[in-house]
Amino acid sequence: MIDAPFWNKEIETAERSRIEQIQLQRLKQTLAWALKTPFYQKKLTQVGIHSPEDIRSLQDLQRVPYTTKDDLRLSFPKGLMAVEMREVLRIHSSSGTTGIPTVIYFARDDVENWTDLLARSIVGTGATDSDVFQNMMTYGMFTGGLGLHYGAERVGMTVIPIGGGNTKRQIQTMKDFQTTVVHVTPSYLLHIHSKLGEDGIDRKDLALRKAFVGAEPHSENTRRKLEELLQIDAYNSYGLSELNGPGVAFECVCKKDMHVWEDAYIAEVINPDTGEVLKEGETGELVLTNLVRRAMPILRYRTRDLTFLYPQGCDCGRTHRRISRILGRTDDMLIINGVNVFPSQIEERIMKIPEVATNYQIHVDKKGSLDRLTVKVEIYPKLFLGEVAKLEALRHKIVEELRASIVISPLVELHEPGALPVSEGKAKRVVDDRPKD
Ligand code: AMP
Ligand code: ZN
Repeated sequence: MIDAPFWNKEIETAERSRIEQIQLQRLKQTLAWALKTPFYQKKLTQVGIHSPEDIRSLQDLQRVPYTTKDDLRLSFPKGLMAVEMREVLRIHSSSGTTGIPTVIYFARDDVENWTDLLARSIVGTGATDSDVFQNMMTYGMFTGGLGLHYGAERVGMTVIPIGGGNTKRQIQTMKDFQTTVVHVTPSYLLHIHSKLGEDGIDRKDLALRKAFVGAEPHSENTRRKLEELLQIDAYNSYGLSELNGPGVAFECVCKKDMHVWEDAYIAEVINPDTGEVLKEGETGELVLTNLVRRAMPILRYRTRDLTFLYPQGCDCGRTHRRISRILGRTDDMLIINGVNVFPSQIEERIMKIPEVATNYQIHVDKKGSLDRLTVKVEIYPKLFLGEVAKLEALRHKIVEELRASIVISPLVELHEPGALPVSEGKAKRVVDDRPKD
């Protein structure tokens, strides 16, 4: 065992039996909240759960049906809201939206509890109130920005709410305020590294010592690369807006995968095809249940993220079990520089544009360290006979249409019919050329 830092040592090192006792008690409370929502009232009564007392043990959670992203969309806007609107303090949404957004409601105590989980996560990495924290995640509806912001303030760090993008300014700010900790996607941090030195600011001018990296999948090799290039410690941070956002699972000083905060979430791993609950060590889809969210409780949410649970135990002394870094997805969701994008969103938009013919392709690769999304579309041949300015206007229109839907701006290429590969059988619409390390 090492001498690890804690935010709330009593909870973080509680005996398994104590954690389970808390989980059961909070699960019942969550069921009481959930039963106030039209969605769960229907879903739970269908399986014979009419009151929290119908759940007697944690094992009984298995009687509760899974909740999916589609359920969230179909119950938009208020089907999963368990409080009156005036009690909702904040609304966030998922970074990837297919048509109807996935919105998340927080009551005052929900923000409070979430903030506390983030403070716990931050302190667990060894960061303290003497650190200067530059939050490079996007603010706004996305949970990555405000979530960590509140947590860092609670710890008492000096917070710089700079948000995403503008690399020159990021680097200058890191120098000006001698930033010691950043919160960033791994791809963007690699990009920042590649720009060091361009404006005369080098690594030696910076005081950086830690990075919280998350919002997109990355390998152990990428972490090591970041650590070596920048001489820092990088900690994996996992979360999803449906379950609050960041602060679901975070690495501790040991950097051996992420502790799930089991007093706030019940984590299960299931076989994505059969729905069967798997054992520790077996890889499958992560399913999460909120234990402390009153405004919008979610039970057994299918995250689509692939991982496995470690048996209890870590050199830091925490008893909350760890999950492995995310090993993939069970659906076709792409994560482009931290932003979730579904191919169906792209198809839906481009097919509404009359000039677009039937074939298209989504191409993802890397430009430097950043992901690059290119949408190649075939347009009707007569359009190629017109003026170049008109073609350019059409290209621009497609970019704008897509940006309105997927939030990021893709490159758009216009092709003549027949130029893109036609596949026999199932169309291969997505070509992901990003290196798998
Ligand atoms: P959002 O709802 O916009 O916060 O996106 C959540 C999704 O981002 C998750 O379901 C994961 O697929 C992905 N994600 C977040 N953090 C990580 C991480 N540390 N490693 C891999 N994927 C992540
Ligand atoms: Zn640990």
